[in-house]
Amino acid sequence: MPEAKVYNNFINGEWVPCKSGRTFENRNPADTREVVGIFQKSAADDVNAAVAAAKEAYKKWRLVPAPRRAEILFRVGKMLIDKKEDFSQEMTREMGKILKETRGDTQEAIDMSFYMAGEGRRQFGQTTPAELPNKFMMSVRMPMGVCALITPWNFPMAIPSWKILPALVCGNTLVIKPATYTPLSVYNLIKVLDECGVPKGVVNMVTGSGSEVGEPLMRHDDVSLVSFTGSTEVGKAVSEACAPTFKHTNLEMGGKNAIMVMDDAIVDLAVEGALWGGFGTTGQRCTAASRVICHKAVLKEFTDKFVERAKALKIGNGLDETVEMGPSISEDQLQTVMRYIEIGIKEDKAKLLCGGNRLTKGEYAHGYFHDATVFGEVDPNMRIAQEEIFGPVVTIIPCDNLEHGIEICNGTQYGLSASVYTQDVNKAFVAMRDVYTGIFYVNSSTIGAEVHLPFGGTKQTGNGHREAGTAALDVFSEWKAIYIDFSGKLQKAQIDD
Ligand code: NAD
Repeated sequence: MPEAKVYNNFINGEWVPCKSGRTFENRNPADTREVVGIFQKSAADDVNAAVAAAKEAYKKWRLVPAPRRAEILFRVGKMLIDKKEDFSQEMTREMGKILKETRGDTQEAIDMSFYMAGEGRRQFGQTTPAELPNKFMMSVRMPMGVCALITPWNFPMAIPSWKILPALVCGNTLVIKPATYTPLSVYNLIKVLDECGVPKGVVNMVTGSGSEVGEPLMRHDDVSLVSFTGSTEVGKAVSEACAPTFKHTNLEMGGKNAIMVMDDAIVDLAVEGALWGGFGTTGQRCTAASRVICHKAVLKEFTDKFVERAKALKIGNGLDETVEMGPSISEDQLQTVMRYIEIGIKEDKAKLLCGGNRLTKGEYAHGYFHDATVFGEVDPNMRIAQEEIFGPVVTIIPCDNLEHGIEICNGTQYGLSASVYTQDVNKAFVAMRDVYTGIFYVNSSTIGAEVHLPFGGTKQTGNGHREAGTAALDVFSEWKAIYIDFSGKLQKAQIDD
């Protein structure tokens, strides 16, 4: 293996090593012999330097007209197009998901660049008539200051782009802490931002662990907003840490998403959707279809076809274009998957229909591979049907009718994504109305969001905010209501006749 490159933090427009001189390795989960890169193992003093740079840069950046800020974002989108293939290959090497999907991940950053660049000339406020004569009223968005962005590893470039780009177009400065498993994709994105002309200090990146970098970053007094995507457990800790000072938080967390297959569904279509939703990204998507709630009338047909296809999935290194499912991200994640399979078999007593094995031989010997696993006859209250596994495990839960399916679908602590397969427009509309998730699909899987609609979930998936679309502007700006009285006298709202 060639010697791995060392990557630095990005603080105040400079690529700098962390103050302690410590580093960590970023290894390929498909072949852990490969060190993809060596990154800075930063700590609080690096965070302090980055926040100080962002705070200083904010003084000027907030005054740059939004259409001018957006010009940088247009250039970012163009440069990402040129680098898409290289970045996607590197993403597969650091994260494991197949090339088709890492290209999609990079594409999402491209789409978000252009979308948010457009917001440079929108960010519409309101004007509205005043109740008093000779008085003008409007609302405008204002930036918030220094944003702390904390991101997960499963969408290594897309999710950072969902946060960085709206933050910038709204006039904020930022410090991003990438997930320790995927700092290279964030490095690539930050490098593009730098090369496209983001002024020094506006964007800063500090790599390292959640406890050593994430903690001091989210607790920093000069940070106005923490935008976090990750597990519900850590999201709660972020929420608690920010509550005493009422620091804004935007939390995007876990999911236990369901596909409902009705008796009139096109079963083959539902099988395709369930495979893509259940085993895409090796089940490591917040929107993964880890539950299939299937009408008893089509349960056997669906199950037989689904299990046959799951068994046939080609598993391997995502750089091979013919591979359909890559490895888990880490040994820890794989152990979680295996633990849940044991819970499924022993504690839940669910029926294991296929899979259940770690793959260790031949090409799998140096990676975190597991086969596609399906449990049948699952009770909705079993742990494998309630808890987020984040691996290639799908549970099939029988239901009697649409209402029963919706009740099961809504019966978890999460509320991110769901879908229904039906040919009956009435059933589709009922499901659309009654399923309590932030995202809903009809005759499609639980994954496939586009950047111009709000993204996020209900209940313990989120805290009421949404990413992407114009909803992201609400996260990264605050409203200011402005009243201009040109009557030349004191006028009193609600009091004067
Ligand atoms: P995680 O919660 O372990 O880590 C997320 C980020 O938080 C990482 O950068 C991590 O280093 C950091 N972190 C960890 N502990 C911290 C602490 N004490 N203080 C501050 N930061 C800390 O999650 P993960 O394993 O990286 O990602 C998987 C999870 O993310 C899943 O639960 C998945 O559903 C969720 N996710 C949600 C969405 C969404 O939009 N709802 C999208 C993708 C992933």
